[in-house]
Amino acid sequence: MISTTLFPGRYIQGQGALSRLGGELARLGSRHFLICSPHPLTHLLPPVLSEVERAGAVRTERFGRECTDGEIERLLALAREFGARTVTGMGGGKTLDAAKAVAARAGLPVAVVPTIASTDAPCSSVCVVYSPDGVFLRADVLPRNPDVVIVDTEVMARAPARFLVAGMGDALATWFEADSCRTSRGRNIAGDAGSMTALALARLCYETVRDWGVSARTACEAGVVTPALERVVEANTLLSGLGFESGGLGAAHSIHNGLTALPAVQGLFHGEKVAFGVLASLFLTDPPLAVVDEVYALCASLGLPTTCADLGLAGVTDEELLRVAEKSCTPGESIHNEPVEISPPRVFAALKAADAEGRRRVRASAGGEPAGSFPR
Ligand SMILES: [Zn+2]
Repeated sequence: MISTTLFPGRYIQGQGALSRLGGELARLGSRHFLICSPHPLTHLLPPVLSEVERAGAVRTERFGRECTDGEIERLLALAREFGARTVTGMGGGKTLDAAKAVAARAGLPVAVVPTIASTDAPCSSVCVVYSPDGVFLRADVLPRNPDVVIVDTEVMARAPARFLVAGMGDALATWFEADSCRTSRGRNIAGDAGSMTALALARLCYETVRDWGVSARTACEAGVVTPALERVVEANTLLSGLGFESGGLGAAHSIHNGLTALPAVQGLFHGEKVAFGVLASLFLTDPPLAVVDEVYALCASLGLPTTCADLGLAGVTDEELLRVAEKSCTPGESIHNEPVEISPPRVFAALKAADAEGRRRVRASAGGEPAGSFPR
């Protein structure tokens, strides 16, 4: 069996790391096409623009909200008209995905500058394409990973803490999904087996969120960079990205996709839905109770959803949950990488059990009992 491990070309992280953009772009080419979300365009780019301009001619373009085929084509035409030799994406996951797709179609190197730590998109070769009204269409696997990823933790610390927490929800899934793929010999994004490296990084990702997650959230709420925040940003962005792409996905992301069948969850972030997918997956794979206890306690302490009500699904019906389960089990979904029998009734049962356990814990802590019920 052949394993493949996918990496971005270079990953740079730290307080003030944005100042490295000019130097990195100079390494990649001489004419720079920058695609920016509105906030970075007006607040983050201006202080480093003169440095970038020293690296060559610059054209900036505001990203049009949604990563659609039309938007990618529009940006591609502008990049070509400018004679771009590099492409940079600065902003949230959709901006970065669009920049990666434009660069891939133009055959140019790409620099990626995430401004929130909410997903593991920055390091990956995956581009998620939506319809103009925001409905998921497909996930394209691009021929290469970003050439450079620059993560300024000062920027992350100033963003609302909910982004960081959602990123931890996404990061939390990485270990469970990679471990399932290892057991079942499931395939990663490259269609190969995950490597020992991917599995070790996925484990480190989980342990980092488990051990430093709450401290990192506190730092983010205070708007400051601490060692815990640095660790968690690296887990959310680098470890989670390498772990999912090279280790493979499992039930948590399919349950996320299934949940999108219910309009009530639309206001939630990707990682918040994935976190509940992890909880439900625990009732599919049946790990030791201490693991269930640890993951629930972690989600509760971080403020990630542990019940249907937390997902905005307080009055959800069995018919609706069955719809979620059916969508989760669509052929080709990564849930089929789980090393257990997968069917809509089993996933439905896991969703119900995950919600019941979440509610039981809420009741227990309201009654002054320790939320964890399992002896260590
Ligand atoms: Zn994810």
